[in-house]
Amino acid sequence: MTIKSASSIINPGKVYQYTDNGEPMRGGMKDVYFSPDKSYVVAFYRDKQDFNSRERLTKIVTQYYDSFFNREGGDYYKNIYSWPTDIVQQDQKIGLIVPTYNKNFFFKKGYVANDGIRGKEKQGLWFASAKFRNKQFSLRLDESELGNWLSYFQITVKIARGVKRLHAAGLAHSDLSYKNVLIDPVSKDATIIDIDGLVVPGLYPPDVIGTADFIAPEVLATKHLPLRDPLRKHANRLTDLHALAVMIYMYLLYRHPLKGGKVNALDTEMDDLLSMGEKALFVENPSDVSNRPKIDQISKWSLPWGDTTKLPYTITGPYLKTLFDQAFIKGLHHPDQRPNADMWEQALLKTTDLMEPCSNVNCEQKWFVFDNSTSPKCPFCGTHIKGTVPMLDLYYEFKTDIWKPENHRLMVYSNQYLFQWHVNRHTHRNEKLSAEQKIPVGYFTFHNQKWMFVNQTLASLKDLEENKQIPLGSMVELTDGKKLLLSKEDGGRVVVVTITNK
Ligand SMILES: [Zn+2]
Repeated sequence: MTIKSASSIINPGKVYQYTDNGEPMRGGMKDVYFSPDKSYVVAFYRDKQDFNSRERLTKIVTQYYDSFFNREGGDYYKNIYSWPTDIVQQDQKIGLIVPTYNKNFFFKKGYVANDGIRGKEKQGLWFASAKFRNKQFSLRLDESELGNWLSYFQITVKIARGVKRLHAAGLAHSDLSYKNVLIDPVSKDATIIDIDGLVVPGLYPPDVIGTADFIAPEVLATKHLPLRDPLRKHANRLTDLHALAVMIYMYLLYRHPLKGGKVNALDTEMDDLLSMGEKALFVENPSDVSNRPKIDQISKWSLPWGDTTKLPYTITGPYLKTLFDQAFIKGLHHPDQRPNADMWEQALLKTTDLMEPCSNVNCEQKWFVFDNSTSPKCPFCGTHIKGTVPMLDLYYEFKTDIWKPENHRLMVYSNQYLFQWHVNRHTHRNEKLSAEQKIPVGYFTFHNQKWMFVNQTLASLKDLEENKQIPLGSMVELTDGKKLLLSKEDGGRVVVVTITNK
């Protein structure tokens, strides 16, 4: 093992050391070496980088690095991306300095059966496939690695935020996929890697087409054209949005939204190209059922997830159904119709408010989206909800004394919290929330056979029926039809209680 060094081409005099044992980790385009203290890696491109590429990389590690991280709130994004911090040169080779991933992004256990992937990076693909969580499959992941269904909503919120911030800066990732996102269902974290492929305004995009499964249909349909042909479609913000939609669908449903039973050509390669490109069709398209997965073709390891009749995409709830329709029906061949990252973030967050814990302790997913049916049950294990379930519909003051529903509902369960973003419509649930805004304002509890809300910090909580203030530290019972004013401040909401399963 030799310790070598490489000099920064951006910060004069700055030198980075790395250890070379002759066998670097090999990425798609780069050879990767650890620093002696393992706090960063040096990733050398195997191929020579042209002027355009050097310009692009320089902007990524300087101008864009500063605008993302060296500002208020910038720390939040340090966890969401694995962003290169410097560029080095060694002989003729260009390399990037990238901080080492957090410990939680490496498998502690990995497979149940053996140590094959212990210590390896938790690439998203391990968690986007039904096989690796199938109890009959010998190389499944250990339960301690998997998290529960709610974890994947929290993870995809972070991915959506990462994509949202890139797009707000005019950048596109260009190769978003479950290979370029590391996720940890245990800490519910995600980090977007391979940032060096970013599409920077004003410079040619990198010559990558993306990762199979995530390439947008229009990119595949034009990939036979010469690279600089004006009709050739390249990676951009809208192709990122296709990849983001595919990723969210896969993390929640463990199957691919476009890989169904329809055959578009007899030649396999041509069939793949058409089925993911020009002829792409959502497997759950409600009006065109020709690409439904054929049950006899689904691998037994993928069941029941591969069977869209057993676990249809509607189990993700109304907000996400709307966005999946927009991404995979309307927007599949009309890129400008695709939902943007902020819409995904908001729909995922609102869906978590519709979730209920499953009462079956052996349930594999532990959480499900309440479907508003008369006999609600967990779609994963079939366990029915026992007893009563209160839900709160949020209303805002449209004009003086005219209250309108916000299309936002909060399901109540024992020890569920209420937050400031439920109380006041001027508080948005996003990455900009302050520590104070993340503190619950109260919680719900089932007490003496009654559902109660315990008011911890709401100074002007009022029971509108009884025209009575609910002081701090006291409780109010949730009964069917009850209306509570959560705050008399501007933007303060009213919630209307419905008790189901009476
Ligand atoms: Zn269940």
